[in-house]
Amino acid sequence: MDFNLTDDQRQFCDMVATFARKELAEGATARAHAPTFPHDVAKRMAQIGLLGITLPEADGGTGGTLMDAVLAIEQVARFCPRSADAIAEGNFGAIRVLAHFGNEDQKRRFLAPLLKGEEVIVVAMTEPDAGSAVTDLKTAATPDGKGFRVNGSKVFPNPFADQYLVYVRYGPGVDGIGSVMMRRDAKGFSIGKPSKFMSGANWAPIFFDNVYVPPEDVLLPAGGFKKQIAGFNAERIGNATRSLAYGQYCYDVAREYAKTRKQFGRPLCEFQGLQWKFADMQVKLEAARLLLYRAATNADRGLPAADETTVAKLMCNQAGFEVANEAMQAMGGLGYTEESLVEYCVRRSRGWMIAGGSIEMMKNRLAEIIFERRFSQRPPRAEKRDS
Ligand SMILES: Cc1cc2nc3c(=O)[nH]c(=O)nc-3n(C[C@H](O)[C@H](O)[C@H](O)COP(=O)(O)OP(=O)(O)OC[C@H]3O[C@@H](n4cnc5c(N)ncnc54)[C@H](O)[C@@H]3O)c2cc1C
Repeated sequence: MDFNLTDDQRQFCDMVATFARKELAEGATARAHAPTFPHDVAKRMAQIGLLGITLPEADGGTGGTLMDAVLAIEQVARFCPRSADAIAEGNFGAIRVLAHFGNEDQKRRFLAPLLKGEEVIVVAMTEPDAGSAVTDLKTAATPDGKGFRVNGSKVFPNPFADQYLVYVRYGPGVDGIGSVMMRRDAKGFSIGKPSKFMSGANWAPIFFDNVYVPPEDVLLPAGGFKKQIAGFNAERIGNATRSLAYGQYCYDVAREYAKTRKQFGRPLCEFQGLQWKFADMQVKLEAARLLLYRAATNADRGLPAADETTVAKLMCNQAGFEVANEAMQAMGGLGYTEESLVEYCVRRSRGWMIAGGSIEMMKNRLAEIIFERRFSQRPPRAEKRDS
């Protein structure tokens, strides 16, 4: 057991930190408050190999590890929290599903522009009546010639993405679920009234009115849901990393502030009430980081890691938000203003306790691992159709 990064990992961190300090630190505040995705940043990251870190070189990736992608998010977030989104979306989530299950033609048409930072993909999974109970989704794909007609709606995705990885139902039950690729300009695809999350990010309902999906745009046919879910352990690592990285950003800013800001003629760091806050924050961050690194490192070795990724997501989501929130308190009024990115990180990190599998759903999953049995969340009568 070795708790230290390797020389290669340290060098990689230095390289990413140097890039982020030089090219991303300036403009970090404006980027955080901009309503749209930082496309320019994604393009620049593509040039230096920070998108598709975990994907094979044959697919246009850089053949690195999950741990590399984790380190990259952490290093970028130190200087520009918002830019860490470009790394996260270029390495985790829908892009990995596409890279893993897409055929050569799909990789050429959909994956290639993502890896160049030219396009953005999001997953369209959640529906008005299917959130945590995602297997209740109703968006239907019915056969039409060789392809399918898709009808239904989704909530919460970014309405400005270029590509949507849409979860659809080809037939009844969990085995009836799979996914298709869709572009925003598809006939019958429309976007409803845009709204905002607490983070400031946009979301909107999207509607599918008889959208034709040709056979070559089917990503996973019926039976695909379980395959996609199997990949979720890796995705949880991406979500967890941003939480941790945002908490760390706030901690670093607040620590510097506490060293210089004086009240009652003394720097804040001399007040024990604040010293203990920082001690608690430090413990939370270190514990979360160890759990995250364990999950990422073991996932890279191909070990089954559902328990480790679940624990890591839970801990990082909670620690990230709690530390960001406490750092804001330690900075007083300034921490609550838009002059500091701490308030932004508080708002963003709160969302990750809900997205990507809520804290409660993680605990449900953990209970199943602990007791080595399945606990259906459905009323007894409906258990048969449960996932
Ligand atoms: C910032 C953000 C970004 C998102 N981005 C996307 C996106 O890009 N694409 C997409 O498809 N979706 C996206 N979502 C939606 C997200 O996946 C859902 O919000 C999430 O799955 C929870 O579903 P819900 O909101 O319907 O809450 P519900 O499922 O209605 O849950 C409400 C509350 O009840 C709890 N709960 C539900 N069931 C149980 C249970 N069995 N046991 C204990 N507690 C339970 C939940 O944890 C939650 O606290 C995003 C959400 C957020 C906040």
